[in-house]
Amino acid sequence: MLPPGKKTAGTIEAALEAPARKKLSGSRKNLTRRIALTRWIAEVLDRLEACWHNEASPPALQHSEPLDGLILTVLSQHTNDRNRDAAFSRLKERYPTWEEAVLAGYGAVEEAVRPAGLAPTKAGRILEILKIVRGDFGRYSILPLADRGRDAAREYLLSLPGVGEKTAACVLLFDMRLPAFPVDTHIARFCQRVGFVPGKTPAEEICRLMEREVAPDRYLGGHVNIIEHGRNICKARAPLCEKCAAAGLCMDMGCRGPRPLPGSGAEPLR
Ligand code: SF4
Repeated sequence: MLPPGKKTAGTIEAALEAPARKKLSGSRKNLTRRIALTRWIAEVLDRLEACWHNEASPPALQHSEPLDGLILTVLSQHTNDRNRDAAFSRLKERYPTWEEAVLAGYGAVEEAVRPAGLAPTKAGRILEILKIVRGDFGRYSILPLADRGRDAAREYLLSLPGVGEKTAACVLLFDMRLPAFPVDTHIARFCQRVGFVPGKTPAEEICRLMEREVAPDRYLGGHVNIIEHGRNICKARAPLCEKCAAAGLCMDMGCRGPRPLPGSGAEPLR
């Protein structure tokens, strides 16, 4: 997605494109814009990395068994991290293995995951997922899935009940170290505000864009950097634009507006 609107061409896009401009053919123009977008995203990620350092110090693999990560991510739906973790801990304390959880049955699992909210739905989905995984892999493990590669692994995860794009991408990235770029509310808000995509672009489209434009070795740290930035600076209600390292590259019309890149010679829009 390109920076929308003619007005922006004088700032961000102009600053990122090659200085010598001449009439370009349609396909060449598209390529030039695509390169500009790629460089724009890379520059933003560079600035966030300078603040949050998660590319230099990425989070450790969350679970040795990605099925644990999948169940944790199912529990995370429509709740916060604290409630998710409380429910997952209760479940694992009561039923250390997934066999034990299945044997305990629906009522017991539902009671254990109550801190995460929507317990009846989540308990049902967890037990369904466990049953399918047991049937497909002969045990309660999805470790072999990582060997199939990202696209096949994603397709399998998306076929499971209650698993959407975000859940699948989280498991791929955090538990399998496969190249996926999960898009949650912070990532979507940030990408829309900065201008990588128009407002209201669905998360799936943002995910595909980031997976196309960002170097795979930046997915993990870049994703976590944006989350931290969204929680601490680019907040939902009152973004702290004056403290934002990406402000000069941001097109958000809800903050003070885009500013030119240093040395670009471009004028601010307003
Ligand atoms: S300048 Fe403001 S709206 Fe833009 S990314 Fe930074 S905090 Fe968010």
